[in-house]
Amino acid sequence: MTAGYTVPSPSSRTSYALPAYDRGMEQHISSRMERAWTLARDRFSGYELIRPGDPTFICQAQDCPVQCCKVFSVTLTEREVERLSRFSGKQARDFLECEDGEPIYLPLADPYVLKRSDGGCSLLGEHHLCTEYEGRPDACRLYPHHVVFVLEETGKPVSGNLDILRFAVRGHSETIVPLLLRHLECPGFTGPPIALHDWEELFIETYRLQYHDREPFEALQPAPATG
Ligand code: SF4
Repeated sequence: MTAGYTVPSPSSRTSYALPAYDRGMEQHISSRMERAWTLARDRFSGYELIRPGDPTFICQAQDCPVQCCKVFSVTLTEREVERLSRFSGKQARDFLECEDGEPIYLPLADPYVLKRSDGGCSLLGEHHLCTEYEGRPDACRLYPHHVVFVLEETGKPVSGNLDILRFAVRGHSETIVPLLLRHLECPGFTGPPIALHDWEELFIETYRLQYHDREPFEALQPAPATG
């Protein structure tokens, strides 16, 4: 696998134990997502809504005509640089774009840039496999998934502070709906249908990675499978 979030393998679960309040909340979010997507989809023409039961993501690195690791540049935060350095045992200058021997620092939220070589990520190894998978940046963990927040009435995208977005992820906002999307170009959505519990995990993990939100989410945490 070259990059991308690895969906927890579809389990043999046939049911899971969310408290009634959370189960109702999930159904509430699901139906609102579906309605909001009909209004928002024209603004996100490169994406499709991910619903429970849709095909699971399995990277097709060896046969993929898209090759995300060759196409996209990746930016990293200080924390991601530290993690990649720790897992790989390499100095930051070994895997970041540098100038005069020092990592380039851009005035962005994610200020560092992963080094590229031969028209792709410099960490790509044989058969398009990532050589530093454990320490890979958040962008590689995210791809090809994405969460956007839209106004329920109009489908227009919104940004906001994390307190507001977190409220919406919980399904508590009257006006804002989060949408779990997939990148249409990625041909990796060929696996078995994603179970509801795995869809919830993917939804929460995608949101957390994308918004760097590490606060506890008791009400949204899927309960352990039973049976
Ligand atoms: S585009 Fe999708 S299938 Fe292709 S290498 Fe990237 S994650 Fe894998």
